[in-house]
Amino acid sequence: MRLENRVALITGAGRGIGRATALLFANEGAKLALCDVDEAAVKAVADEIKAAGGQAIAVVADVSDSAQVDGMVGKVIETFGQIDILINNAGILRDARLVKMTDEEFDAVIAVNLKGVFNCTRAVAPHMIERGYGRIISTSSVVGIYGNFGQTNYVASKAGVIGMTRVWARELGPKGITVNAVAPGFVATDMIRSVPEKVINMMVEKVPLKRLGQPEDIANAFLFLASDEAAYVNGAVLSVDGGLVV
Ligand code: NAP
Repeated sequence: MRLENRVALITGAGRGIGRATALLFANEGAKLALCDVDEAAVKAVADEIKAAGGQAIAVVADVSDSAQVDGMVGKVIETFGQIDILINNAGILRDARLVKMTDEEFDAVIAVNLKGVFNCTRAVAPHMIERGYGRIISTSSVVGIYGNFGQTNYVASKAGVIGMTRVWARELGPKGITVNAVAPGFVATDMIRSVPEKVINMMVEKVPLKRLGQPEDIANAFLFLASDEAAYVNGAVLSVDGGLVV
């Protein structure tokens, strides 16, 4: 098992990529702290892990609220005594073309996708620094590298995640902590359920592997970056997009 005796905090763990990551990490021996705003969903994931013999707690917290994040991190430390791995995965979409995008749409996405990553990393980093070990992995997106029509807010947040990753790789590397990002392509989760089938088919056509990513494809990349095998990977942005942009 690749994560034995490790404690991982995963945000947005109630469904999609976060849920798949929680289940994979549990199989690899990690103890899980699972965060989401959806209480029923995140409790169900924790229960599934416990039923299979793993260790997991569910914490309801909104990552955009720094007080809630600080409270969550305190609870995880109280329960498990340490946090080795942080997976910044919670994210939302509020798409609109530039001229139609409202202040609320812009601010909501920045609050969760960018400030949320800052809040969680700032809260967890002191504990990792104290122990001289940590793995911080944040979820960017292929569109954070290349841009996308109708996603000013989302692209700004995901490009910002890459920027923060590079800052933290420099700041925290000397403390024994690696900081990396994963940039998924189009992944089959609820997040893209509102996208019309015609558009999905057009997206798939552009992917050399001719399929959407599955949540497990991204979870496997998180696992690599969280594992001992990635000890010398720091400040990287790992694209997991089926070769969408090569
Ligand atoms: P998802 O299925 O929508 O799951 C996201 C989870 O995060 C949901 O359970 C959601 O709760 C939770 N969440 C939302 N806001 C939160 C907050 N403020 N605090 C805590 N939890 C919150 O999304 P996904 O497709 O798995 O995406 C996971 C990550 O991958 C996101 O950062 C996303 O931007 C990124 N990504 C996804 C794709 C894709 O194609 N799916 C591509 C590139 C990058 P609710 O259910 O209550 O909203």
